[in-house]
Amino acid sequence: MTQKIFMNDRLVSREEATVSVYDHGLLYGDGVFEGIRVYGGKVFLLQEHVDRLYESALAIRLEIPLSPSAMFNAVTETVQANGIVDGYVRLVVTRGAGSLGLDIRRTSNPQVIIIADTITLYPEEIYQNGMELITASTLRNHPGALSPRIKSLNYLNNILAKIEGTDAGTLEALMLNHKGEVAECTGDNIFIIRHGIIKTPGTDAGILEGITRNTVIRLAREAGHEVRECPLTRHDIFVADECFLTGSAAEIVAVVSLDGRRIGTGKPGEITLDLRRRFQEFTQQ
Ligand code: PMP
Repeated sequence: MTQKIFMNDRLVSREEATVSVYDHGLLYGDGVFEGIRVYGGKVFLLQEHVDRLYESALAIRLEIPLSPSAMFNAVTETVQANGIVDGYVRLVVTRGAGSLGLDIRRTSNPQVIIIADTITLYPEEIYQNGMELITASTLRNHPGALSPRIKSLNYLNNILAKIEGTDAGTLEALMLNHKGEVAECTGDNIFIIRHGIIKTPGTDAGILEGITRNTVIRLAREAGHEVRECPLTRHDIFVADECFLTGSAAEIVAVVSLDGRRIGTGKPGEITLDLRRRFQEFTQQ
């Protein structure tokens, strides 16, 4: 089957799916996006992703030329047209083509792009044995500069931290906020467990409010766990019993070391594995 990409108002071939070199998405990273999973032919938590996309757009004063319900339907249509059963959707809205200056009043035609594809996951071995992390020296964006709550096309902050992880031989890197507190990883939120209490940085810590994060908080509470959203430091990770990351692509993945220091037993923890089972069950509903 040849791949079909949704562009603005219809499905086109991959070759036809092009944007202008004057698009401010390209020139300035001026736009917003979402990364969404498909399980068993169903787009997972699509409404939540559409809601976050429109919130991100509102925050950067980008008017999306489709209604949220039309966007919802367009994603579903694109997944079906590509016969994706288990895969990944990338939803992108750019500011559109403008002049070479920054003025958004000179841009027009925001581009709506929906790509439905297969997904490359972390290697199975990482789920079995857990992931190693390093702390990046690149701080998460100051919320007063470019708020990490906006899922914008400008991901350089995260890319620079990701490079540090890659250089150190890790698949993810921990990012601290401007206060020195734990924020999140480059594409995943972070949780710790200490004495049975699950903790994760609050939305004011300079994080993207992950949809997987919110789902895991809910599932953990339903399972009877206490979950606290509170400031965390690296110290809290070093002394944690368990640590794990959440993200649409990663789902739930255990973290077993930070900066070469073992966390807990150095193996994926019991509560982490139980939450992972519960989460996977939820994806199949
Ligand atoms: N933080 C960042 C910086 C991200 O880019 C992502 C998404 N890849 C996440 C956290 C996880 O968010 P979600 O669970 O909504 O995928």
